[in-house]
Amino acid sequence: MQAATERMDLTFRSFRPYGVELPKPIEALDRIARNFYWSWHPEGVELFRDIAPTIWDKYEQHPLKVLEEVGEFRLWQKAADDEYVAKLNDFAARFDAYMAEPARSFENGPTPEHPATYFCAEYGVHNSLPNYSGGLGILAGDHLKSASDMNVPLVAVGLLYRYGYFRQDIGHDGWQEEHYSNIFDYGLAISPVIAPTGERVRVMVRIRGREVFAQAWLAKVGRVSLYLLDTNVEENNEIDRMITGHLYGGDSETRIVQEKVLGIGGVRLLRKLGISPSVFHLNEGHAAFSTLELVHEYLIAHPEKSFAEAQAAIREQCVFTTHTPVAAGNDVFLPEQLRGCFSPDYISSLKLNEDEFFALGRIDPADDSEAFGMTPFAIRMTRSANGVAEKHGEVSRGLWKDMFPPGTDVPISHVTNGVHPPTWIAPAFQRLYETEIGQDWPLLTHDPQAWARAIAAIDDAKIWQKHVTLKNLLIAFIRRRTLKKEIGGQDTINERTNTAGLFDPNALTIGFARRVAQYKRWNLILSDLDRLLRLVDNEDRPVQFVFAGKAHPQDRTAKAILQELMSINHESQWQSRAVFIEDYDQEVARYLVQGVDVWLNVPRRPMEASGTSGMKAAMNGVLNFSILDGWWIEGYNGRNGFAIGDLSDFESDAEIDAIEAESLYSTLENEVVPAFYHRDGNGLPTEWIARMKDSIATLTPQFSSDRMVSDYIEKIYKH
Ligand SMILES: *Cc1c(COP(=O)(O)O)cnc(C)c1O
Repeated sequence: MQAATERMDLTFRSFRPYGVELPKPIEALDRIARNFYWSWHPEGVELFRDIAPTIWDKYEQHPLKVLEEVGEFRLWQKAADDEYVAKLNDFAARFDAYMAEPARSFENGPTPEHPATYFCAEYGVHNSLPNYSGGLGILAGDHLKSASDMNVPLVAVGLLYRYGYFRQDIGHDGWQEEHYSNIFDYGLAISPVIAPTGERVRVMVRIRGREVFAQAWLAKVGRVSLYLLDTNVEENNEIDRMITGHLYGGDSETRIVQEKVLGIGGVRLLRKLGISPSVFHLNEGHAAFSTLELVHEYLIAHPEKSFAEAQAAIREQCVFTTHTPVAAGNDVFLPEQLRGCFSPDYISSLKLNEDEFFALGRIDPADDSEAFGMTPFAIRMTRSANGVAEKHGEVSRGLWKDMFPPGTDVPISHVTNGVHPPTWIAPAFQRLYETEIGQDWPLLTHDPQAWARAIAAIDDAKIWQKHVTLKNLLIAFIRRRTLKKEIGGQDTINERTNTAGLFDPNALTIGFARRVAQYKRWNLILSDLDRLLRLVDNEDRPVQFVFAGKAHPQDRTAKAILQELMSINHESQWQSRAVFIEDYDQEVARYLVQGVDVWLNVPRRPMEASGTSGMKAAMNGVLNFSILDGWWIEGYNGRNGFAIGDLSDFESDAEIDAIEAESLYSTLENEVVPAFYHRDGNGLPTEWIARMKDSIATLTPQFSSDRMVSDYIEKIYKH
């Protein structure tokens, strides 16, 4: 209220570029809305949501859209609300203090003068910047948030996709439909990067013989700057303007040009901005062309040197993370595609001939029938390569061993993925930790023993009560999302004409939200439908299922799996005890990983490189019930969740599917269901709560992205 009483003039401040004017007392909202810091603080979220909860949810949690839509009257109501203004001022002070802290310096590692740079093809920072498709992007977003929270000097580079990733609808025939919308429609919290001359900062890359320009945007993720390149520039022709049109929307021809803009354009952008990195972190192979630009620069500065000398020099600055556990999951390009992107002049400027260039991307450089793989290329051009979990490191060493002399150690290590606790832990639990542990609870996760003691000391009933609240919130969300009132609405698991009473808050609720891909084995769950329905139909101890996930637009097999799921129409309770939430995204993920009792995962080993959604669930006391693959091999201790199957080897996919389906059903029948429904004299499921507390205590520190970023600094960035 301070500002309002001191300055009685009713000055408005223009709210560029959306045409809204903010009353003085609440003008800090402008500053706060333009940095995603608010998104990982419950108080920050509330500041925008409480202005207009209906608009907030209608437009998918876009602060700028709320400010634009809500209208002058409501803004002045908030400006005149002392309590609101005090809350806003508190938050603004916290934010300003956070931003004012100088960045840390790491010996032999990133410093403010020479930051780490992080390259990734997608970033999932928040729903209001829909610039991601799934796990890789969310991981990148969490990496930036932890780097910011730990004050690590880091700058990120990516692409801005004007139409983002596809949105999913399921038709009445159960078939997935895709649509795209222009992400600028909602008002993005990004700003154009402007040079001191007043002009937009742009970079040029040469593609298919044309000069293609990409303009830079800046998204602020706390203290981290995320620069995004966008080819929708007037000078470019129509085709080139669409290079950054869709994320994973096109064929490999689209991908190679996108990857050229990201890699080559990304390095040129950093140079224009005067950023001199200590390390280039290529998160997945998409960004590996950046190494060519570094060679190109090096040879301009050292014209007497050879390619091999240049490569040896720039390798020292570059590190690579691989995310794919199968060779087919890596981008590969054909000679024709490479020629379209790299002219003979560019190749000879690298002091290479064409075949020498193509050979850099082959497992066997001498085998000219092999296409150019971005992973072999990245491994050759960087000083460090790592997988994203211990098992995935081992799998990657097996995949790429032929690149190295027989009998030598394959130099691929691992850093296990993590997720950002303040982003993924429900506000209700964060508030509990604030009262029980203190405002700085996220810092305590850096000390696993102290964290475990603090969690053990929290009263069982308090933990359970928070969980029950979050489960009810999820159910309310499910009822709203599946309600289709329009004429022709039908009753299936993804839509209903009436959702009152749908789902029982007392029933064991299992969440399964995954990309629909073969190895995720959606059909394993349905492999014995009668047995599954007996669990669902049990009158005393029923089981409910929430499903969500997208199939790749070109993957008809995956779409058929979804269709099969939608078409289960049985003489059972299935229709009222299973739901499918359309259009899985970060917001849906949040409700699910915070509100179900059990988080299910059934990948075919060893195809789950890491997986991260289970980590989010674990931190909310949701018990993982998963195949021992990816992160869960490291996380599971026998008490903090449940395992499906074991680590034994198998002969064939059919054999392992049968064994693990049996384990899935029997563990559910004999362990998970009984443990959940067992109650003590006070009606509390004490055994279950003990597992929840074990999950929160052991898995939060171990799978926090703070731990991940610290590992990257210590093991990978320092040199
Ligand atoms: C966390 C997350 C993922 C990654 O999930 P996994 O299946 O565990 O790899 C994908 N999509 C969204 C929206 C997420 O939030």
